[in-house]
Amino acid sequence: MTRRTILVSNRLPVTASVEDAVLKVERSVGGLASGLTGATRNSHTVWIGWAGPLTGISRRQVAELNAQLTALDCVPVSLSSREIREYYEDVSNAILWPLFHYQAERLPPDPRHWSTYAAVNARFAQAVADIWQPGDEIWIHDYQLLLLPALLRRRIPDARIGFFLHIPFPALEIFRILPWRQEVLDGLLGADLVGFHTEGYAGHFAAAAQDLLGAEWKPPYLTHQDRDVRVGAYPIGIDAGRFEELARRRGVRQGAEALRRGADVQVVAGVDRLDYTKGIPRRLIAFERLLTRHPELHGKVQLVQVVVPSRTGVRTYREFRTQVDAAIGNINGAFGTALWTPVAYQYRSLGEEELAALYTAADVMLVTPIRDGMNLVAKEFIASRVDDDGVLVLSEFTGAAAQLTEALLVNPYDVDGMAATLYRALTMDRDERKRRMRALRGTVTVQDATWWAGTFLSDLRSARRRRKRWATASETSTPEEVQEVLERARSARSLLLLLDYDGTLVSFTGRPDAARPDTELLGLLGQLAGRAGTDVHLVSGRSRDQLAEWLGDLPVALHAEHGLWSRGAGSDEWKRQPAVGATPYDELATVMGRYAESTPGSLVERKSAGVAWHYRMADAALGDQQAERLAAEMDDLADVHGLDVLRGDKVIEVRPSGIHKGLIVADVMRHAVPGCLVLALGDDRTDEDLFTALPPGSIAIHVGPRESLAPVRLPDVATARAFLRDLAMEPPSA
Ligand code: UDP
Repeated sequence: MTRRTILVSNRLPVTASVEDAVLKVERSVGGLASGLTGATRNSHTVWIGWAGPLTGISRRQVAELNAQLTALDCVPVSLSSREIREYYEDVSNAILWPLFHYQAERLPPDPRHWSTYAAVNARFAQAVADIWQPGDEIWIHDYQLLLLPALLRRRIPDARIGFFLHIPFPALEIFRILPWRQEVLDGLLGADLVGFHTEGYAGHFAAAAQDLLGAEWKPPYLTHQDRDVRVGAYPIGIDAGRFEELARRRGVRQGAEALRRGADVQVVAGVDRLDYTKGIPRRLIAFERLLTRHPELHGKVQLVQVVVPSRTGVRTYREFRTQVDAAIGNINGAFGTALWTPVAYQYRSLGEEELAALYTAADVMLVTPIRDGMNLVAKEFIASRVDDDGVLVLSEFTGAAAQLTEALLVNPYDVDGMAATLYRALTMDRDERKRRMRALRGTVTVQDATWWAGTFLSDLRSARRRRKRWATASETSTPEEVQEVLERARSARSLLLLLDYDGTLVSFTGRPDAARPDTELLGLLGQLAGRAGTDVHLVSGRSRDQLAEWLGDLPVALHAEHGLWSRGAGSDEWKRQPAVGATPYDELATVMGRYAESTPGSLVERKSAGVAWHYRMADAALGDQQAERLAAEMDDLADVHGLDVLRGDKVIEVRPSGIHKGLIVADVMRHAVPGCLVLALGDDRTDEDLFTALPPGSIAIHVGPRESLAPVRLPDVATARAFLRDLAMEPPSA
């Protein structure tokens, strides 16, 4: 079954227009849309959102619009003009936007219309619930829909819900200002995964949830009201390949040449939506200061400032434009000559080739917002620089600064410092420029839009959800309890021991083939097997060959590959479990090979029924992270091929469904002495299958710190061996 990803955002990624009475609907390109195309290859994507203002379309065209949207897998949510004003302009853009960008003084004196915001969020919830089917995952975007995760959780408790915030999440002291702070936190905590651009924003969110709701924070999980919510940083990437391709076009190269007018002038570029967060006024003062301090640059440098019209319906944006226009006019009036205009100002939207030409022409790109969730312009500039040249001056208050550390970082409030850094950028030598740009390009081309969406969805799929509570690590059995079990085992007339090998009888080593049994263990197993009325079975995930080589000389039965293969004590004939399907080896090995390459220290092992990826030798944090991703990717393949994905201790193994350690129990019991006591020891998830399959009255013993269903718990391998030694020895005579 193909998985469906339901994306929800304020706007659908479409532009609808009416030309010559003909309605045209087109899918727009952009980071989100292109990232998802790459990341959702194995799933079907449906998008829910508002189609935008559609004035002047007829009733007939509405039906046509809906048909065209359906063909593009888009589901429209209709909003009245009052709702747009109150939910979108008043609450989203005039309250949440400034506050989340630390502009508390821009809040209206009497913030209103939260009820409309909530009602519109509820409308979105209805639209999602209408199309949701079991198995669908939901990915909600941005600050217009902060209440949607919890609204959906109430309607569809089982849904897998992710939320990503595209703007900053402010520090607690700013967030606390919001009159509806509690509602926002409750809303977001309805998700299984809440993602931000940076660790900083994620930390702010966690701090707010702890402080204002009393949630518990054990990274990466916030726990509130018995639900776990994963929280993390997923810096959005761009479609870097597209900008590289644009930069190589002939028209773009010619455009860049024209902007540079030969090599006469150094071009400093600024590209911003008209928004008070972008830091344009201070940037202009810094440029003016540069000209004042360095008269030698007059006529030699030009700031090309593109300002893209935005939110023209909001009064503060209109006023802000007047301010920017005046500042630019002042600089040009004071410094310009008949032959030189210091600031070339364009208040309009650029076409993609024009934009790429400016990016490639720029000697210096000035990105100096006073706050910005990420800032894509900085990344697009880098992606366009296939010549490895150009200097990025970047505000430390952008999300991008956390990733693009080889840029020249500036504090946009320190205007003097900004002017000095701009001078440094203009005079930087070629080697340093290239070294920095190459490093920046490495980040932007690898952590691109597909990487971003893929990482988020993979973490969403593997986010922890509460299951039944198992015994936890701290609860090891008391010496009395262990003694009691020992006595029961000793007094049984016949005893059947089912022993796991790795993690139970031997400690883990870096390489799987290094955990060879030592003489003490061989002696112990021999003693147990020689004990009166005792049968010993080794039940392992290891291969037949390895078990035979290591333990084949002992009088014990061996079960290899989680019970797929078995041989009796003293026999060397292996029997395969009937009715176990085939394995798509090559496909599994290819996917795991990718992880082995990108996770130093990990390796792929081919088994007779499956393929395993071992990462004990890898960096612990990276290994765990990659393991979660691999397991999620494998879950996809598992659906298609009928496979089981086993998450062992530092190993992910995939093999045909239906093989598990529990399988051997029925067969073993058939040959066992009736009424014998079964005692099983194991340490990881694969042993839980064994425990579950044991006949009534058996004893399951868990070894080590993990969660387990076993009622008896021993802390480690040494204690497990000591327990078995005590069992092997005759009880001291009373
Ligand atoms: N952009 C645009 N038209 C232009 C110039 C730029 O659409 O004339 C695009 C630019 O390519 C970038 C986006 O606008 O993808 C701006 O994104 P950013 O994250 O820098 O700022 P935001 O507008 O999201 O605050």
